[in-house]
Amino acid sequence: MADDWTPPEGTLMKGKRGIVMGVANQNSIAWGIAQQLAAQGAEIAFTYQGENLERRVRPLVESIGMDFMIPADVTDDASMDAAFASVKEKWGKIDFLVHSIAFAGKDELVGSMVENTSREGFRRAMDISVYSFIDSARRAAEIMPDGGAMICMTYLGAERTVPSYNVMGVAKAALEASTRYAARDLGTQGIRVNAISAGAMRTLSLAGIRGGKSLMGTGRDWSLLKEDTRMSGVAGCALYLLSDLGHSIAGEVIHVDAGFHAVGVPELPEE
Ligand code: NAD
Repeated sequence: MADDWTPPEGTLMKGKRGIVMGVANQNSIAWGIAQQLAAQGAEIAFTYQGENLERRVRPLVESIGMDFMIPADVTDDASMDAAFASVKEKWGKIDFLVHSIAFAGKDELVGSMVENTSREGFRRAMDISVYSFIDSARRAAEIMPDGGAMICMTYLGAERTVPSYNVMGVAKAALEASTRYAARDLGTQGIRVNAISAGAMRTLSLAGIRGGKSLMGTGRDWSLLKEDTRMSGVAGCALYLLSDLGHSIAGEVIHVDAGFHAVGVPELPEE
């Protein structure tokens, strides 16, 4: 089903400020989330990977009437220091964090996980896709004196095997565990930490996975709703978790995948 639902404007995020990490282009999940947060009155600081993405990201940010953009490479401590310092300098404190970042090398995302996972590839996938969330959560919590909410993005490959997903599945399992530990550490400060497990969606990241298109097709055909995962649903879940509607939810992984995760055996052929 085409994702032609336009979320109504509202005030669920009015008065809330936060950081969205991981917009690369108009298909990025981070961008879908940012649009819904903005439509509900949020003020957003956007971090993007590096100067060569600025050309793509700036028009998007400006299209929703915002301009706070900061380069941040999550593998570089100096870059992360500067990014969070600039948010602190401008706003003093924040209310939410969206982490929508992952990376694994193309050579790792194919064939056998056992054969194709190098030590360096493993280290890089874990650093960018997992440690960066832990690091960002710590930095964000330092500027959340009044509590707040954080989310990261995961995928079913953390729980079950998925062809080609390989080391990224291992990283997502670690990310989901990190979500629970961060939720434990920060819960007493009134900070709720949760993850969204989205179905396969057509983004730059999916294009890096061999057979990514088929992953989308299978996700749709086997799903309970028999439809693609819709960005509006993923973003709506983010809005729910990051707004006051999400009170009392912490350490949770919510599947937004048209019900794909719930299927054990797909429909059987007629006998
Ligand atoms: P995307 O390519 O649009 O976003 C990935 C982002 O990670 C990009 O903005 C990229 O710049 C950023 N990134 C990578 N390395 C970085 C670094 N060193 N420093 C800073 N940023 C860096 O793709 P997406 O699908 O929107 O991915 C966002 C998140 O959603 C990822 O965690 C991904 O694993 C997850 N996810 C995606 C799907 C899907 O099917 N697309 C499904 C479930 C979960």
